[in-house]
Amino acid sequence: MGGFFPLDFTNFPSNASESLLALSCDLDPRLISMFSQEEYGLDYFRDQGFHRKKCECCGKFFWTRNEARKTCGDPPCDPYTFIGNPVFSKEHGLDEMREHYLSFFEGRGHTRIPRYPVVARWRDDIYLTIASIADFQPFVTSGLVPPPANPLTISQPCIRLDDLDSVGRSGRHLTTFEMMAHHVFNTRQKEIYWKDSTVQLCDELLMGLGMDPMAVTYKESPWAGGGNAGPSVEVMIGGLELATLVFMDLKATPTGTIEIKGERYSKMDNYIVDTGYGLERFVWASKGSPTIYDAIFPDLVRKVADLSDVEHDLSNSEYAEIFAQNARLAGMVDVDAYSMKELRTMIAARLGISYEKLEEAIAPMERVYAVVDHTRCLAYMLGDGIIPSNIKAGYLARLVIRRTLRIMKELGLKPSLEGLVREQISRLDYPDWQERMETISVILAQEEEKYAETLDKGMRLVRKTAQSYGKKGQAFPLTEIISLYDTHGIPPEMSKDAAEEAGVKVELPDNFYSLVAKTHIKAQKEEEAAPQVILEGKTELSFYDHPFDESFKAEVRDIIGNSVILDKTLFYPEGGGQPADHGILEKGGLTFKVVDVQRIGDVVLHAMDGDGAKAFQKGDHVAGHIDMRRRLAHARHHTATHLVHDSAKRVLGKHIWQAGAQKTETRARLDISHYKRITDYELRAIEMEANRRVMDMIPVNTKFMPRTEAEKVFGFELYQGGVPPGKQIRVVKVGSDIEACAGTHVTNTGMIGTIKILRTERVQDGVERLEFAAGEAAVRAVQEREGLLIESSDILRVPMDRLPKTANRFFEEWKGQQKEIERLKEDLAKTQAKSLVSEAVAIDDLKVIAKRMGVADIDELIKVASLLAEMDYVALLGSESGKLVAAVGKTGLEKGIKAGNVIKAASKLLGGGGGGKPELAQGGGPKSEMLEEALKAGVDVIRTGL
Ligand SMILES: [Zn+2]
Ligand SMILES: [Zn+2]
Repeated sequence: MGGFFPLDFTNFPSNASESLLALSCDLDPRLISMFSQEEYGLDYFRDQGFHRKKCECCGKFFWTRNEARKTCGDPPCDPYTFIGNPVFSKEHGLDEMREHYLSFFEGRGHTRIPRYPVVARWRDDIYLTIASIADFQPFVTSGLVPPPANPLTISQPCIRLDDLDSVGRSGRHLTTFEMMAHHVFNTRQKEIYWKDSTVQLCDELLMGLGMDPMAVTYKESPWAGGGNAGPSVEVMIGGLELATLVFMDLKATPTGTIEIKGERYSKMDNYIVDTGYGLERFVWASKGSPTIYDAIFPDLVRKVADLSDVEHDLSNSEYAEIFAQNARLAGMVDVDAYSMKELRTMIAARLGISYEKLEEAIAPMERVYAVVDHTRCLAYMLGDGIIPSNIKAGYLARLVIRRTLRIMKELGLKPSLEGLVREQISRLDYPDWQERMETISVILAQEEEKYAETLDKGMRLVRKTAQSYGKKGQAFPLTEIISLYDTHGIPPEMSKDAAEEAGVKVELPDNFYSLVAKTHIKAQKEEEAAPQVILEGKTELSFYDHPFDESFKAEVRDIIGNSVILDKTLFYPEGGGQPADHGILEKGGLTFKVVDVQRIGDVVLHAMDGDGAKAFQKGDHVAGHIDMRRRLAHARHHTATHLVHDSAKRVLGKHIWQAGAQKTETRARLDISHYKRITDYELRAIEMEANRRVMDMIPVNTKFMPRTEAEKVFGFELYQGGVPPGKQIRVVKVGSDIEACAGTHVTNTGMIGTIKILRTERVQDGVERLEFAAGEAAVRAVQEREGLLIESSDILRVPMDRLPKTANRFFEEWKGQQKEIERLKEDLAKTQAKSLVSEAVAIDDLKVIAKRMGVADIDELIKVASLLAEMDYVALLGSESGKLVAAVGKTGLEKGIKAGNVIKAASKLLGGGGGGKPELAQGGGPKSEMLEEALKAGVDVIRTGL
């Protein structure tokens, strides 16, 4: 096994920019030269006898103990050599390797901290956790809040869907991986450790695993991204990048003295050791298996292969070599730059086998690998509480679900997706996930069902779309395939099949899913409604300390437009789904209405009614009075929202997450993530639970806390309403509900009085809306509903408790009577038709009836005329109100008489129009006094038509 690559890969687009750490990018040579010997010339390298060398292949600098070494160790300069030739002395599984890593750093003064969820609840810019440093952005890395521990070590599960389509194919790509890391947050006042210790710790870790000290290279690789930059080294062994060590010490600032790519940088006061060690790659390197998948979950790969009837025998060296060569080649080149076919052709040539034989061996296993990887990804996504939907992280979960289902179908894999995810969950040591498995089962079964429905419905739509491109002689564009997926959930493979069926050219890229995922990975920043001006000064917010004070005294600081700025205020500015307070400002005995209150930065603007602000001047002493009825109504609805949310969680499950909320004086609404419609039974249970919390008279506790501490104590569940900015966050605790919230609340749930849920609505797939009223508004809502009952029982003249029965009886009777009326109308029409027969006149051999039908309605005219046509008459019937219907029987139709023409001529005389089919038409006009003439005109058309 093994075998060195004789091919020269130096001219292939390489994967060199693909780094373990996120946000890395190709850099300007100026930056590279700036991060020179002085940045990398570490004492540790010198003491250990490292040499700094320039790669003969790519020209980049690297550090090695091996003086004879000529290349940097990074593909394509060096190929994978670890396959079949492990770089560590002992094989390790995932759990073993993770534990080894974490205890290594724990033993060297680092605090081990628990992993963060894969859904980045503490971020508003990304949905999924993509790197361990993401856990600490933006507030810890910016220096605003302290880290949870310092230095720390963590193994953070990360999900990246950028290379979704390469998973399984390249032998190394994964959607889900654990980034093991040690992080240090240094300040100029207190440095914990920096480059030397970082490299030393890494080197010792690797040697402890039995690495040959001569084998490792540390490749200089300056890093920049997301407004930060710094020197970094990639840690290469056997052609595999095992880790990246970044020394983040620059930030982009307009006044910076270091220029990189037109952007100015300066040294940061807080400088960070940001490392990333790929757990799965460590395991792979320890085993040297042909693919990473065979290294990290060999038993699951075997199981899925067996279930799919795919032979997978790595002890057969010829067979194993196919996968090894595939992984080596994919390791050397940028897989995105080639089609699958091109890559396969290269590998087949290397192995000296036919393309078909290669395809036969490799294609089914690629699917097996992808299924194993994707179900692990889903275990993390659903275990951490993502609900599949069409938005945000839910969109990404559904994308992975559908791709997995598609691949399972291609494999003919029998067991359900749910079974495979359950298997993955049972292997991961997160006790609360077992508890969630019931919910996850329901979600997955439902997603499978929805997908099947989509395929059923989608086929017709996609065929129609394909045909319309075919008619225009155009190719089926990629944008259309993406839109069919996005809007209708139609998988791209299906669009491709339909296009080919319709003979339409189609270009489906190998990386379709990655392309789609990429457009949904980053959160769209919501447009800010408030004007982007910066106001000087600060208004003290007194309402937090004195939530029920009605009046206050303050000094006018400024007037901007029609708004007054005070030094302090009791007025709550609009925010967090809670509207602004209203009230009055009083000056010298005169009062002026406050109609809106907004906060910009630290300043509160009191918008005055009319041109009220003109009455105020800087330095005025004023009194403010809050409309307490309005404030209290808001506070009741706000606290009630927290209670309803908490109750929904109790009733529906822990996966409930707030997707939006809005409060007014009379109503509140709460949007929650949920995978199905809320039933009436559940709704009543939620309402009862919420009201029990009211009756329990639970005190509402609010407290400003340091962010890190609050997160540590309460978890990210805090961020139901979004992630507030700042060092301190306000934590509102109502019983078991704990949220970061800036709103005004009642002090005890008893003050809410009552909560009445009024309705639910599916706002979109995966999001349910609850609309409810609290306090007086709830009583009023109940009264309104009761009013409807009273009114109804008055109308029906029965007591309220008999309303349903009575309404039902009336409805049934009414339905019976409707049927009876229909039947009588039929009878009547038949009788009328029969009686009209005697009035027919013969025109040639055609029997024609033209007749005034009194006050008959249009339905009656149509019925009678149609019956006459059935009996082979030509009928033209008119009502006194000016409506006309013509019907032509078999003979008339044969002779070319058209009911439409008859109606047109007749209606014209009535000053109107009409039309229809040859056998039946209708029309009429306002001049009903001309009915007789109109009928004659109709008959004339029949006569001249013959
Ligand atoms: Zn190189
Ligand atoms: Zn709140």
